[in-house]
Amino acid sequence: MSHAARRFALACTIVLIVPAGHAGSPVAGTPVAGTPMASGSGGAVATISEQASQSAMAILDKGGNAIDAAVAAAATLGVTDPYSCGIGGGGFMMIYLAKDKRVITVDHRETAPGKITPTVFQENGKESNLDATIASAASVGVPGTVRGWHEALSRYGTMSFKQVLAPAIGVASKGFPVRENFNRMSADNQKKFQLFASSSALFLKDGKPLAVGTVLKNPGLAKAYRELAAQGQKAFYQGPIARAIVDAVARPPVAAGVRVRAGAMSMADLANYEARIRQPVRTTYRGYEIVGMPLPSSGGIAIGEALNLLEGYNLKALPRASAEHLTMEASRLSFADRNAYLADPEYVDAPVAGLLSKEYAARRRTQMNLERAGPKVLAGDPYPFQNDPSVPQRPQATRLLADNAHTTHLAVSDKEGNIVAYTFTIESWGGSGIVVPGYGFLLNNEMTDFDFSGPHPNVPEAGKRPRSSMAPTMAFKNGKPAFTIGSPGGATIITTVLQTIVNHVDFGMPMDKAINAPRLSQRNDATTEIEPGFAGSAQALALEKLGYKWAARPEEIGAANAIVFNADGTVTAVSEGKRHGVGSALVQKSAN
Ligand code: GLU
Repeated sequence: MSHAARRFALACTIVLIVPAGHAGSPVAGTPVAGTPMASGSGGAVATISEQASQSAMAILDKGGNAIDAAVAAAATLGVTDPYSCGIGGGGFMMIYLAKDKRVITVDHRETAPGKITPTVFQENGKESNLDATIASAASVGVPGTVRGWHEALSRYGTMSFKQVLAPAIGVASKGFPVRENFNRMSADNQKKFQLFASSSALFLKDGKPLAVGTVLKNPGLAKAYRELAAQGQKAFYQGPIARAIVDAVARPPVAAGVRVRAGAMSMADLANYEARIRQPVRTTYRGYEIVGMPLPSSGGIAIGEALNLLEGYNLKALPRASAEHLTMEASRLSFADRNAYLADPEYVDAPVAGLLSKEYAARRRTQMNLERAGPKVLAGDPYPFQNDPSVPQRPQATRLLADNAHTTHLAVSDKEGNIVAYTFTIESWGGSGIVVPGYGFLLNNEMTDFDFSGPHPNVPEAGKRPRSSMAPTMAFKNGKPAFTIGSPGGATIITTVLQTIVNHVDFGMPMDKAINAPRLSQRNDATTEIEPGFAGSAQALALEKLGYKWAARPEEIGAANAIVFNADGTVTAVSEGKRHGVGSALVQKSAN
């Protein structure tokens, strides 16, 4: 995809040692140097931003629960990581309620405005240019984040918008220092931001990225948060903020001489936006119950199907390269099905039960190439396993959509045992590139997650949610939380979460090693994506002997955050040691 200059230097840690831990009880080892990791008791948080983790901690310390703290962290990420997430976008929050021992999810994915039609991204019968569509108002979906925060807080939280937004308002008003990572992301987005006057004014200086060390204040976003704090979600969906969004979509705030495509979002589209409370999808894997995000995200289903496939092999007993090969083949088959069948469940009767059935996995497993990197595969036929006579026409398309990669994922738990795994996004880095004038937040380009090509389950339709890959995930053992994990990275989210689960559960790696291990992404393609530094490693060479061909990415894959719930009742928060400029993991009461 188009963000050509993504070049986060990642000196990959090559992890070749397979500790002899039992599956499901990873052995503690020497922590990976530089990995943000904290163990202790009380609440825990892992995010990709120091300020966001501190905001969550401040709320936990004031007696807020994990849901309150997650919203506080998310609002702060909207300030410090505005190119990945914010109130101009949407997301998926998974919540474990300790008292009830149940998991629910809050789907606040963006919806297509009422005027969107299936051919909106076609010109003269051909797919519209993706990059030009992204950097325009035509790609903007109705933002869901504020509504999601509102539902999460009002149903499961204990605090008000005013309380949980206070830390983020502080960071937006006082500013935060631009670090190297932010500077690089600004450079990557420079051309897109230059198209829009409001975006250049906020994120560039004289058309160039803000220098490292500059303190970036965002008074517009502080104002938006203050309006939410005072009036609640209505301020966003019905008040002046809604008007400013509608205006920015109808008449993009372009720089002099620039023309981009306008969109058509109405005040009614915003006023009628609703989040959805959805049941998660579940599967079992080597004694764990794996709970994943349901449609309209393909994340939980694709990971569940791949794990079901892998369950048929004793990965632990295999040479590392063979086990990794099987993981990638499982991912390949699962992606073929995902690409063919999955979309917004309110518009498409997707065969979810079939795809997640163990019997289907047993049948599909016969298509796995056990010895060699396989060729591209067709989607399987899960319908006989669906137990549903009213099946729709069976789609066969297996095309892989062009995908973007950035978003953010955070994990929070509290002393009561509640847990939040939360992935939210504005889609591409920098979203549509349009900062809403006066309010300091970027509008998403989530509509480009629809399939542009014509008849397909994931075709654009009015009110529909584009298929996502976001995969906040929780794992339980004997009914108790074992760990939670998630990551950004577009469709690589699925492979990152899958690989990290396999690293932790099958290879027995403690979570810091599981997260630090090099990431490979196989999504039913002839080549497998790898991170900088991986090519030429012993692990790469071993896989090449099995027929692997690499597509080297200019940047790292994903930026995971996890919390492990240890058998002794303590918790361990883990973030990235290198990717996305280093994350942050904190616990309320440190073990040390
Ligand atoms: N829009 C993507 C999705 O929903 C997320 C973008 C990303 O993670 O980079 O799957």
